[in-house]
Amino acid sequence: MRPGLPLLAFLSVLAAAPALLPDFYITLLNYVGLYSIVALGLVLLTGVGGLTSFGQAAFVGLGAYATGYLTTAHAMSPWLALLVGLAVTAAVAVVLGFLTLRLSGHYLPLGTIAWGISLYYLFGNLEFLGGHAGLTGIPSLEFFGWKLDDGRSFYYLTWATLLGAVLATRNLLDSREGRAMRALKGGALMAEAMGVDTPRTKIVIFLIAALYACISGWLYAHLQRFVNPTPFGLHIGIEYLFMTVLGGAGHVWGALVGAGVITVLKQWLQDILPKIFGQSGNFEVIFFGVLLILVLQRARDGLWPWLKRLVPGRAARRVLPEADPLPRRSMPSAGTVLLEVKNARKQFGGLVANNDVSLNVIAGEVMALIGPNGAGKSTMFNCISGVDPVTRGEIHFLGQRIDDLESRQIARRGVNRTFQHVRLLPTMSVLENVALGAHLRGHKGVLPAAFHWERVEEARLLAEAKRQIDRVGLGDRLFDEAGSLPLGQQRLLEIARALAADPCLLLLDEPAAGLRYQEKQELAGLLRRLRGEGMGILLVEHDMDFVMGLADRVVVMEFGEKIAEGLPEVVQKDPVVLEAYLGGVEG
Ligand code: ADP
Ligand code: MG
Repeated sequence: MRPGLPLLAFLSVLAAAPALLPDFYITLLNYVGLYSIVALGLVLLTGVGGLTSFGQAAFVGLGAYATGYLTTAHAMSPWLALLVGLAVTAAVAVVLGFLTLRLSGHYLPLGTIAWGISLYYLFGNLEFLGGHAGLTGIPSLEFFGWKLDDGRSFYYLTWATLLGAVLATRNLLDSREGRAMRALKGGALMAEAMGVDTPRTKIVIFLIAALYACISGWLYAHLQRFVNPTPFGLHIGIEYLFMTVLGGAGHVWGALVGAGVITVLKQWLQDILPKIFGQSGNFEVIFFGVLLILVLQRARDGLWPWLKRLVPGRAARRVLPEADPLPRRSMPSAGTVLLEVKNARKQFGGLVANNDVSLNVIAGEVMALIGPNGAGKSTMFNCISGVDPVTRGEIHFLGQRIDDLESRQIARRGVNRTFQHVRLLPTMSVLENVALGAHLRGHKGVLPAAFHWERVEEARLLAEAKRQIDRVGLGDRLFDEAGSLPLGQQRLLEIARALAADPCLLLLDEPAAGLRYQEKQELAGLLRRLRGEGMGILLVEHDMDFVMGLADRVVVMEFGEKIAEGLPEVVQKDPVVLEAYLGGVEG
């Protein structure tokens, strides 16, 4: 990616700063850099992943204490101590992640507060870590013989580390793994249906955020040359979160903005407020409290989006690189039984939404599932796709039982779906949303993504997404935000997303709702072509002309029961169906 002019200007100012600014400001900038690294982790964790942590300061402490202890008590090289610190932090983060990330809603932030406090007291109470007095005599860093023993020399290391982390984070977010991370915010249900292992993805971003914090702590220890528990307490953890939110939790550069504004403002307020009030005290804390409330009320998205508007930016014009098509799964031959639902029962408390329903879908047919609202059709979809498992009964796909599998495992086998109530990531482009559907067709992980070593695979995934988008007729909306599409087109997007997974069974829940006549015709044409390729399609739809013109067979449900099954022309005339479905109005 070619850096824009504002970025070049920013980098030049950064590079020139040590030559131009007095020591005081260099120190301040060093702290801004260190805090930004932690905040960057929180951008991933909170802004992207939607997981709130108040406990990041504890991970900073792990990095600082690891190197503090090892370099003083064991005279270990700081660089080796960094590796040990990262390993310890990773181990602690994985354990804490497993324990806390299962928690949902406000229990998660409470959990992070709990371990934030625990680690803080641990630092203060361990004898070998110097107790509350801390550790002194930490050596300065040496970089190929260059001693980084003052703020000015340290400055370059801090900022190079930060910019490296920014670059890696940006690369990561613009990748297959990054899409999976961003999908967490759209709810685990959709992400899982696309094949994303959401518990694993949460642990991964938690781990990355913890490792960033650890690196910041390591730098901090060697800048300060001593550590004590104070900077790793809960209130600093809250401050990190505040920086992230203020800067713009969803934006990589927001971390720098937030850390910068808070650090400079704090310094300034600590000088000026006591003079105004005529007595000493931490008045800035009150100011920050008010500021946080204002930000949450007026600018939820933080300062970055607002700043970005002031900076003349280039319009994002993207051209997709050439790429070989992805390999496709082999389709079962026409007539193979794909799906067998055997006496599936689904109860919600006392409500029986599916009452021992059986049906099957064979390769190369469109099976329509119809019935009045509340009949249990979407519930059946959720059971088949593993979103909401059956209470009783069995579901088989290609002869294998799938009713006990996770939804991502079912997706992997080639069962892919759309949702009646559209589930997409509104601020992500149409292209990225559809590429999420191809998640299981890529394999490259976080590390290759951070260095953009996965560009060949990524190009193939994007090319596949584009192909499916063209297929559903949204080719001219590729780079538009998905949320800006009319609802009908959002449904088409979901179909493209399901197709990007290369399914052999496609579950479509009311795909034609909200489409114009012409669009419905085109959709019907597409579904006929897919059927011709041997795909099985299970279709829930209210538009009877659409259904009857397309379906090979029809199953009719009412009040959770299957009341009829057969050829469209036969079912259409069935008196039971007319009574139930058309409310007794005979045509
Ligand atoms: P359809 O898609 O045929 O319109 P649904 O499958 O959405 O019907 O709903 C069938 C019945 O199950 C409805 O009475 C609905 O209120 C109920 N239902 C669906 N999902 C849930 C749920 N998660 N919890 C409780 N009741 C549900
Ligand atoms: Mg429904």
